[in-house]
Amino acid sequence: MVFGATYACPSCRLRMARRDACPKCGGAVASLSDPSTRAAAAGGRAALPVASLAIGAATTALAAIGVARDMTALAASAGAVGLALAALVAWRDRRRTGAAQPLRVYAPEADEEGTTPDEVVGIARRATVAIESPLGGESCLAFGLRGAAVGGEVDDADGGDFDVVVSGGGVVMVSLEHAVLLPMDGDEPRTLPSGEEHRLESFLRERGLAASAPLTLAESRLGEGDTVRVVGRVRGAAVVAEGSKPRSRVLAGEPDAPLVVTVVARARA
Ligand SMILES: [Zn+2]
Repeated sequence: MVFGATYACPSCRLRMARRDACPKCGGAVASLSDPSTRAAAAGGRAALPVASLAIGAATTALAAIGVARDMTALAASAGAVGLALAALVAWRDRRRTGAAQPLRVYAPEADEEGTTPDEVVGIARRATVAIESPLGGESCLAFGLRGAAVGGEVDDADGGDFDVVVSGGGVVMVSLEHAVLLPMDGDEPRTLPSGEEHRLESFLRERGLAASAPLTLAESRLGEGDTVRVVGRVRGAAVVAEGSKPRSRVLAGEPDAPLVVTVVARARA
């Protein structure tokens, strides 16, 4: 379950955490908070391939005014026009067929090769926010949901950066910017009671999905006091001040090597 997968490549039908380029096509990745990205992701009204058309038009214009005098430039301009036409045809087909394929969540494999990730095991402690899990309604530091909603797959997590108190009293802060939460045994699917869809509305909308009933999702929860294992990479020797208590280490992930959070044991009630 991926934290913050609120960006998408509409043409690859992939949803992902913030990153510079689509891992599949290398194209631009856009935030789903942008209505035009959401519309393109929903597939109802595909966006005009403006960039391709502009390149095609500009190249054609350059050729027309005589900039492209030799054959190489002419060939390049023909190629650009071809690309623009292909983009236009794809756009027209998407409009004609209407709905696009559902969005899939892109979850890069955790980096376990060639490098030595850092592992921390300890007790989870609130560092930023405590939130309410949307299905169980329980206070937690982070939660994950798996299943399907209108518009695509749900394989998502949300929460605030938290601390891990290791034995001996050291504290490591966990950054969830590029992170995944692994499901725990016993995270059974539950159906959101009818009329309670609003609890998931903003969470799903931020991900280009709709909260239509019935919503059946498996919920995972990381609670305060739970024992967690976090695998990522210690960032430098950063000291993050928390009042008079400095945190000596920050554990974080990267776009292609996300931090992995596993709940090892529940806190005793
Ligand atoms: Zn792509």
